[in-house]
Amino acid sequence: MPPEDSVRALVERIRAGARVSVLTGAGVSAASGIPTFRGPGGLWRDFRPEELATPEAFARDPLLVWEWYAWRRRLVAAAAPNRAHDVLAAWSRRYRGFALVTQNVDGLHERAGTAGVIRVHGSLWDLACRDRCAAAPARWREEAIELPELPPRCPHCGGLARPGVVWFGEALDPEVLAAADSAADCDVFLAIGTSAVVYPAAALLAQAAAHGALTAEINPEETPASASVDHYLSGRAEEVLDRLERGLTTAAFRV
Ligand code: NAD
Repeated sequence: MPPEDSVRALVERIRAGARVSVLTGAGVSAASGIPTFRGPGGLWRDFRPEELATPEAFARDPLLVWEWYAWRRRLVAAAAPNRAHDVLAAWSRRYRGFALVTQNVDGLHERAGTAGVIRVHGSLWDLACRDRCAAAPARWREEAIELPELPPRCPHCGGLARPGVVWFGEALDPEVLAAADSAADCDVFLAIGTSAVVYPAAALLAQAAAHGALTAEINPEETPASASVDHYLSGRAEEVLDRLERGLTTAAFRV
């Protein structure tokens, strides 16, 4: 369990009306049965995610990459949000100025009831035209769990469609990045369940600190960010967020 003085410090700030921003990574969905890339279960047919989630992998073998995404879509469709998603959804309704930036592509924050999620890496449920044909929107939603055809086609030009996610080596959408930058202007910034090595996780933490925010990290493993945050709360997202939520909602909890 995380140190009680860290829990108290965060509860005190949030209760005093702090603007809270949260950055989440794959660890938040681990308790829902969605494997993280680097943790147990992250491999698919002996491929590492880094070998599949790239434009080069898609150019080489679009069917293989699509089979991996089809598997992930099925896995996520069968999963449910966990306590971590639920606590953050409650905060989004309760605290003015709350912002949630996620690297996750699974949509579980939205399914838990968080509105306005800033998705820096796109969504498993979006598709895009590989050739960015003029007729197609930048992305479109396809929520049918089983796609009618693999690899799917762009309905506008008939060319290949690709997953509407950001792959390793690709640039982030500037508008989404601007929204994430704005979220870093806050009073309390929490990085939860991210290894903090994939851009922009580390950058957002540093920006939040530069804005004078109290920074904290929730992760059962130390990361490159752990030493520099104000509070490192060692533990699983679903347990530590439950502890914080009890502190925030229990009148008897002394801060
Ligand atoms: P990562 O796989 O690199 O790291 C996950 C982190 O979660 C690790 O630091 C691990 O210690 C921590 N963790 C594991 N279980 C946890 C728990 N119960 N509570 C809290 N933390 C826990 O993931 P990442 O840094 O998010 O990113 C890599 C990229 O992978 C991201 O861009 C993301 O798009 C993608 N990804 C997304 C999903 C998803 O949408 N669910 C799943 C896997 C990877």
